[in-house]
Amino acid sequence: MYPSAGVREPTIEDNWRGIVLYGRNVQSYKFALAKSLLDLKPAEGDLIRLEDLAPIYSRHLTEHLKTADKQGTSGSSKFLDTCRGFNAGTVSQTELVSATVKLGFANVIDAFHRVQQGDVPARFYIDERRSNGGIRITENFSLLAEQPQFSDLPQEAEARWRLVETAWELKVSRALVSVDHDPDAEVLFTLDGKRRRKNVTSSRDALNGYQKGYCFYCFDGIHLEKGKDSFPEVDHFFPHTLKQQGFGPVIDGVWNLVLACKECNRGEGGKFASVPTEKLLGRLNTRNEFLIGSNHPLKETLMAQTGDQEAGRKGFLRDFYNRAWASLLHRWEPEAKGPPKF
Ligand SMILES: [Zn+2]
Repeated sequence: MYPSAGVREPTIEDNWRGIVLYGRNVQSYKFALAKSLLDLKPAEGDLIRLEDLAPIYSRHLTEHLKTADKQGTSGSSKFLDTCRGFNAGTVSQTELVSATVKLGFANVIDAFHRVQQGDVPARFYIDERRSNGGIRITENFSLLAEQPQFSDLPQEAEARWRLVETAWELKVSRALVSVDHDPDAEVLFTLDGKRRRKNVTSSRDALNGYQKGYCFYCFDGIHLEKGKDSFPEVDHFFPHTLKQQGFGPVIDGVWNLVLACKECNRGEGGKFASVPTEKLLGRLNTRNEFLIGSNHPLKETLMAQTGDQEAGRKGFLRDFYNRAWASLLHRWEPEAKGPPKF
């Protein structure tokens, strides 16, 4: 249903990320609801009435509409038009909230837990719209809120939302949507049909969830809070130095970017200009398949960079590995700081 290593039970964060980071989206409402729940941080058993959810939910949508007018794949939406009206000053806050209660939750509350064919095993709320006019928070959400990674989830949801709406906004053939990494600014960007650049989101925020919040190499916990020791670095799996050795700009592709703790990246015994071991190459393949599972637009980007079929992508990595190894002659793998996470 969604990626999980081996037979390990999906964690509560896996369930949440399954909802927010994977699956196809036809509207951005799922992201708005996810961000609203993270903001409100309700306790187990709390009833959130639609009237109380509507102000924060509509605020997330109106904010996004300011920079990306397309918030779904269907043509017109009375609800989104009301949100646009609010941004234009022709709809009041009260009118916006009442329209949100009436129209804004029609599909999202039912569909929130759905990923591909079925619902994730852990539900974060029960739909009590008919009996109590809202949603009832479950123990799973309280459990999620207790996790050390909880504070990173809003940034992950925001990054995913930005990627999806950018793909919709570009309105070009899916095959042409490509997300690139700027190593200096550490942002992901796209080029539109006229080759104009648009910064989409922080590379860290976009990549973190697909590594489940752990250092790619040693599985130490990482956090998206700047200034902390656990703040990760954006690392090139195949070292950046290869760019100058005939490997070219392909090195900067999202397929080759992972988040690493400071120690792995440049601590004593860090990776530097070494090639990670074959075990870690296998992990890169797994991570890249996670990115492909995230769909539009990272799926298309990864496929364009490494191949349409899974077997071809494996072959691409293998071939790259052999060439990089012949060029750099050093293999590297750190001591694991915890059990495998993916
Ligand atoms: Zn590490």
